Amino acid sequence: MGRMSMSIAIMTMCGALIASVMVGLCAWVLYQSRQDAQDHARDALRNLALIAERDIERNFELYDLSLQAVVDGMRDREVMTLAPRLRREVLFDRAASARDLGAFLVLDAKGDIVLDSASDTPRHGNFADRRYFTIQRDNPGQGLYVSEPYSSRLRRNTTCIALSRRISGPDGSFAGVVVLPVNLEYFHRLFAGLEPGLHGSLSLISRDGVMLMRQPYDPRIPGRSIREASTFHRFMAASEGSFTDTASIDGVSRLYWFRDFPHLPLIIMAAAANEDILAAWSHRAVTIGSLVTLLAIAFVGLSTLLGVQLRRRVHAEAELRQIAMTDVLTGLLNRRRLGELLDQEWRRAKRTGSMLSLLFVDVDRFKAYNDLYGHPAGDAVLVDVAKSIVSCIRRPGDTAARYGGEEFVVILPDTEAAGAIAIAERIRLTIHAHNIEHAGSEYGCVTASIGAVTWNPCMNGELNAAMKAADEAMYDAKATGRNRVAPFKPAPANCQHPA
Ligand code: GH3
Ligand code: MG
Ligand code: MG
Repeated sequence: MGRMSMSIAIMTMCGALIASVMVGLCAWVLYQSRQDAQDHARDALRNLALIAERDIERNFELYDLSLQAVVDGMRDREVMTLAPRLRREVLFDRAASARDLGAFLVLDAKGDIVLDSASDTPRHGNFADRRYFTIQRDNPGQGLYVSEPYSSRLRRNTTCIALSRRISGPDGSFAGVVVLPVNLEYFHRLFAGLEPGLHGSLSLISRDGVMLMRQPYDPRIPGRSIREASTFHRFMAASEGSFTDTASIDGVSRLYWFRDFPHLPLIIMAAAANEDILAAWSHRAVTIGSLVTLLAIAFVGLSTLLGVQLRRRVHAEAELRQIAMTDVLTGLLNRRRLGELLDQEWRRAKRTGSMLSLLFVDVDRFKAYNDLYGHPAGDAVLVDVAKSIVSCIRRPGDTAARYGGEEFVVILPDTEAAGAIAIAERIRLTIHAHNIEHAGSEYGCVTASIGAVTWNPCMNGELNAAMKAADEAMYDAKATGRNRVAPFKPAPANCQHPA
């Protein structure tokens, strides 16, 4: 019984364990697929950014070569003595007259235009205040300079960045600069062809923290400084990387990927909203997660239900077992159980060589009682007699059983003849003392006759013989006047009592 309820508990626990493992596995798989979705998105961002970077790098390399060609040409006496139109053809690369480019301008040391690729007679203008001029004037080793976005003075309403190179005199002194403006329209068109996703973005930023272009496009963005933004601090920390951040402008959490241009002072950055990256994943996670959770709950519920059913069955079986061995009327052991118990006690006594006593109790004149008072009253008497018997046996091994009808048997293991007769006498007196009226009895009340036998179940002893002896003793009591205890007199010949 105890072992049974323990195995039920173990079963319920196993059910819970299997369910937890199931949920745990599912969580792990979902976590892995979330990581995969993010890795995938990061790769896509990198590819997008690299496409833009390659295009810009290649074009700017060509523009720089054109600028260097102008610088070299300016040092060439032969070129400089050519007629203005011819000199223009030689100095300024025709490839650089693409639609997103302004005109090459050569400025002298004071910032005035001296040569103009757009016209044989240079337009008028002084650009000594522009940073692309001052930086070249003040830093002989500057090389190619890429400016911040500015509004062109020569071409109204165009925003551009300028590429500039220094022109030095033979002694290394500052002799002016050559400038090539690049319209931001170039970046705008390049970026428009690249799709960064619904809430994503693709940005080009100068290494000083000024926005040059962003897709989706907003005309207010070029020129805006993001030097104070948290994202920009991340760009400064490494030359390439990825991170997750929440934009302060729109509160959207994004995955960012950025990279410094290898040869230009620019940073390319691609971002995608985590919401978009994980949209498909979230959908799957909610579906699978809730299904598996439901399954796990059902599993635990089922195993608990099974446990409860099993417990009920175990209880029912125990109850049935109890019913199968008790007498319905008196609650004593029934005849079947008596047989089993007698057998068991007999063998035990044989094994240990101890005495075994049996009492055979029979209610006197019971047929007459039934006839006089009715069967239900007779039943009540049987219940009372059973109670009397039980009240007189006290040792744990002692048992009383209903043998059948108005006959009862009491088993007294390890009990000598004197002890057995004393108990039988106590039973007889108790029944008599209850003083249940019985007009058909010579004693005027319900009484019982008891046969007692004490047996040493040595080698050749037989249980049946012992029962028969007890029965005979009982009849002896009947014959000698009823309401008395009779011991079995002749000792069995084939049994040796211990010395
Ligand atoms: P004696 O003194 O010689 O034992 O006489 P008796 O009438 O008790 O003996 P007998 O064996 O002839 O009668 C037994 C009677 O017990 C028969 C039956 O009417 C009655 N009896 C047997 N079983 C039950 C029972 O379950 N309930 C009731 N009320 N009576 C029973
Ligand atoms: Mg009888
Ligand atoms: Mg009787």
